[in-house]
Amino acid sequence: MKNHNTNLELNKEKILQQGMLTEANINFYADIFDYQFTTANRWAAELPKVEIRDEGTEPVLDTASLQNVLPSNQLYLSSLTELAAIISKHNPGLNFDHALELLKHDSANAGIIESLLIMDNSKIEQLAASAGIGHEEFLFLVVNCLKPLFIALREKHYTADPETHREKTCPFCGYYPDMALFSGEKEGKRYLSCGLCENLWAYRRISCAICGESDQKKLEYFSEEGNDRYRVDACHTCNGYIKSVRLNRLDEIENCDLIIENLMTLPLDVEMLKKGFSKP
Ligand SMILES: [Zn+2]
Ligand SMILES: [Zn+2]
Repeated sequence: MKNHNTNLELNKEKILQQGMLTEANINFYADIFDYQFTTANRWAAELPKVEIRDEGTEPVLDTASLQNVLPSNQLYLSSLTELAAIISKHNPGLNFDHALELLKHDSANAGIIESLLIMDNSKIEQLAASAGIGHEEFLFLVVNCLKPLFIALREKHYTADPETHREKTCPFCGYYPDMALFSGEKEGKRYLSCGLCENLWAYRRISCAICGESDQKKLEYFSEEGNDRYRVDACHTCNGYIKSVRLNRLDEIENCDLIIENLMTLPLDVEMLKKGFSKP
C-alpha cells in the first residue's frame, strides 16, 4: 500500500496555509498513516486464511470467514491496542479501555465486520454505548483497525481490472465508497474508492454512488467557484453525497492520493452537512 504520510508531508504547507487542518490534526493523521502502513506490511507477512469467492461473485472476500478467525488473531488484537493508544495520545480524555475489552473478548465482536459492511448503525451505536464512547470514535477505531488488514487482503487476492464497470459497493470487500475520481476527456470516466480496502473501480458517471439513483432530476452537483479540481455529487433520493477529484487530462490516476484529497476537502463536508446532506 501507499504510505499516505508521504503525500500528507508533501501537502503539509498548503494544508496549513489554507487552514484546512491544524498542525495538531496533521500530526494525528501522520501517526495514523504510519500505523496503517506498518500494520498492512505486518499483515501481508501473515495473512489469515479467508474464503475468496469465484470471479463474478461480488464481493469477492467472504467476510464471514474472516470474522471467525479475527477474535483469536494475535496481530488483530495487538494492532487494536496500538491504534487505541495512538488515538488517545492525540485526544487526551478519550478512553478506549472498555471498547478494547468489548472488541477483544465479547462475542459481539464477531458481528462487527458484518454490521460495518451493511452499515448497520444501530449495532455500532449499541456497541459504542456499551463501551462508553461516541459512535464516531468507536467507528474510527474499528475502521482504522480493519483497514490495513483489508488492504493487505486485497493486494494479495484481488487482481480484477479497475476499468471494468462495477456496482456502487466495493467489488472486493463490499464496503462503501468514500471518495470518487473523474478522469479523461470531459470527465469521461468515473471511479469510486473503497472506504475500507482503498480499492478503485469504475462506476456509472451519472448515478448516485450511495443508493444507485440514476434519475438525473434527483441528482445535483456542486463545485467551488474558481476551483474546478473538486466537485460534490449529491442525491435527493437518499440525501447522501460523495466528493470527487477531477483530474486533468495528463494526471495519472495512480498519482492521485484520494485519502489525502479527502482530508484536504473537509471544508466541503462541512458545507454539505449545512445543506442538509449526509455522509453515508
Ligand atoms: Zn473494499
Ligand atoms: Zn442516492
